[in-house]
Amino acid sequence: MSDYPSLYMIIDGERVSGGGRRTHQVVNPATEEPLGELPLANADDLDRALEAADRGFKIWKKSTPQERAAVLQGAARLLRERADDLARHATMEEGKPFGEARIEVMIGAGLFDFYAGECQRIYGRILTRPEGGQRSMVTKVPVGPVAAFAPWNFPLGNPARKLGAPIAAGCSVIMKAAEEAPASALGILQALLDAGLPKEAAQAVFGVPDEVSRHLLASPIIRKLSFTGSTVVGKHLAKLAAEDMKRTTLELGGHGPVLVFKDADVDQALDVMAAHKFRNAGQVCVSSTRFIVQEDIYERFVKGFTERAEAVRVGNGLDPDTQMGPMANPRRPEAMEQLIGDAMDAGAKLHTGGKRIGNQGYFYAPTVLSDIPLDTRIMNEEPFGPVALINPFKTEEEAIAEANRLPYGLAGYAWTRDSARQRRLAEEIEVGMLGINSVMIAGADTPFGGVKWSGHGCEDGPEGLDACLVMKTVHEG
Ligand code: NAD
Repeated sequence: MSDYPSLYMIIDGERVSGGGRRTHQVVNPATEEPLGELPLANADDLDRALEAADRGFKIWKKSTPQERAAVLQGAARLLRERADDLARHATMEEGKPFGEARIEVMIGAGLFDFYAGECQRIYGRILTRPEGGQRSMVTKVPVGPVAAFAPWNFPLGNPARKLGAPIAAGCSVIMKAAEEAPASALGILQALLDAGLPKEAAQAVFGVPDEVSRHLLASPIIRKLSFTGSTVVGKHLAKLAAEDMKRTTLELGGHGPVLVFKDADVDQALDVMAAHKFRNAGQVCVSSTRFIVQEDIYERFVKGFTERAEAVRVGNGLDPDTQMGPMANPRRPEAMEQLIGDAMDAGAKLHTGGKRIGNQGYFYAPTVLSDIPLDTRIMNEEPFGPVALINPFKTEEEAIAEANRLPYGLAGYAWTRDSARQRRLAEEIEVGMLGINSVMIAGADTPFGGVKWSGHGCEDGPEGLDACLVMKTVHEG
């Protein structure tokens, strides 16, 4: 498609492609049309990226906070200027509606602006010991070159997260973004380079994911792993990182519980949660997945959710009427068919959806299942798709036990007007982020991350910057 840019890697400031390298065909998930050929890194490319990141760290760690702030602010401005093009490329690569992709650009720009301010507030402290005249200086220094892996579901937002905090901290970065959505990731890095980031400080490579991560994590140059993706891959990468004691930030899967009590504003809960469920076709780590609904309002909730699911306009994300695009790759509708088929075989009730739409593109209908046995795959594995799973509960204790049943703990949601119950839920539900009568659980200034199998460490907020810094204390006699 003429509107789609040519593809390359960025290593040591150079655009790298061709040269007999293997390639990956990038495909538009709405049309299945090829968009471009992405060059994949060979071992020499990765060694060059490592060597550049090593040099880049030595340069960038000496930058002043004001210099880093100027780069981040400049990049934020460029992202806003380029928002339409970036969003269109993201929609072509990943399928999400153009409006959602445009919001993602703005969120990325907001994150860069936030870190431009935050990097000027990296403070230490000085301790004095009057008895011996000793002085101790506690300082925070950048952890070192970061290997960052960004998935395809937020083609712009994930790369912005992978680059923003490390660059603000004074680290260099080698980013491997998803091979499915490379133009978006390149657009984010290009904005930083155009705003004056030294060419050595950030590289973008693509490749066979397992080859790239093994190569980068085997190198002593890399001092931190930052990964967003599935729990199974996260555990594998954490083991590789442990071999060299690298710092890790892991943002992994979830299985978001949503507790809806009979005292809630049920219509508001339905409106907000149905829109939330089908955003990005459910391919969101903090998606609402297990709806646990008090039995008094259960039938009303299932009916209301089904009506809202049936009203969702599904189509090509470039069509302004579209509310939900295709799934991002052919693996997702296949996974939906398997998980939903397995649940229905076990007796779950299908209210709407449960099938692909059309015979072109990776479209899957917004789906509502209820009365799903807890031992089915879909009640235990992250579905990562446009399916709402609704089951009833009687007591608060029962609802909390179901919310905490799985080893995941990323985001959870609760709808209740009872303030004492709100406090109990806040204490009892095992997640990194809890939305009470709200789904606004992320922001540039708030920590984003999970517990248990959903990973550890945070992105965003001052905590995301701290995750790229290590303590160094100098004791002077
Ligand atoms: P996957 O688990 O193979 O890949 C997920 C991401 O990890 C991709 O971006 C991929 O490039 C990367 N990856 C995979 N193996 C890797 C490796 N060895 N080293 C480095 N990176 C690697 O599968 P998928 O089909 O792309 O996605 C399936 C599941 O992944 C989803 O069901 C969901 O659970 C999870 N996922 C989570 C997020 C998130 O935001 N947490 C995003 C995308 C996918």
